[in-house]
Amino acid sequence: MMRVGVVGAAGRMGRAVVRAVSEDDGARLAVATERPGAADLGADVGTLAGLGPNGVMVGDDPAAFAACDVVLDFTAPATSVALAAALAELGTAHVIGTTGFSAEQDVAIAGSAQKIAIVKSGNMSLGLNLLAALVRRATRALPDADIEVLEMHHRRKVDAPSGTALMLGEAAAAGRDIALRENAVFVREGQTGPREAGTIGFATLRGGTVIGEHEVILALDSERVRLGHIAEDRTVFARGAIKAGHWVIGRPPGLYKMTDVLGLED
Ligand code: NAP
Repeated sequence: MMRVGVVGAAGRMGRAVVRAVSEDDGARLAVATERPGAADLGADVGTLAGLGPNGVMVGDDPAAFAACDVVLDFTAPATSVALAAALAELGTAHVIGTTGFSAEQDVAIAGSAQKIAIVKSGNMSLGLNLLAALVRRATRALPDADIEVLEMHHRRKVDAPSGTALMLGEAAAAGRDIALRENAVFVREGQTGPREAGTIGFATLRGGTVIGEHEVILALDSERVRLGHIAEDRTVFARGAIKAGHWVIGRPPGLYKMTDVLGLED
């Protein structure tokens, strides 16, 4: 029985994770936390998630995760970086779904992954990870196509482009054997001039309650290939995180991706 810790348990994804854990016969919710001073401290996590009381109260001390086999984390970059370091000391595996990390924060997490097994992915859904694999193949097969990544999310999302859009950009770049950071165009405004060949463009839309829509467009002369994914419910990410939890327990220290969990690496 996997003992699961949930950080950010009162958040949108935290609540979805609590619900998904309750549906998994091989997992049990052991610890749930929020930020010190948060309004929901002391509340029953099951009630917060709309399930009815389950006896697990929201705490604020990451040291409590010593009682867990794995911690599922959809919070904020600074929180995930600090938690990875704390879990590295406890020897508890970490599944990170948080997005919006800086390059320095990525390095810090890689440092913690020298001591514990960490799965980190900007998107935990099976369908989206399959899409990334298809994008890598498509950009390799169509070396002359202009690549554009389009995404839309709900109005409350705070980072852009989405972690998933970046993941798809990385997949597109991998298909071309180029580095995303050196070839990405994140903003276009005013007199931009013609499109530079070989770049990977991004467009961000925000509004309403959209859970997550992504499309990668491969534009050639007179034809376009459009590869896309629509997430209809946060459950797909929560279930993916639980799958990653089952997979990561007992693995050697290292930084793993969702494609490792799902067996989608080439
Ligand atoms: P959210 O509703 O704001 O939830 C985040 C929760 O984490 C909030 O309750 C927040 O509390 C809490 N938190 C922050 N710092 C904490 C700390 N030090 N200790 C304990 N709890 C802390 O956001 P969300 O929509 O659930 O998204 C969370 C993250 O997951 C975002 O980065 C989002 O992009 C990402 N995401 C990833 C996937 C994926 O598949 N990888 C899917 C969906 C979302 P406060 O409100 O007090 O800050």
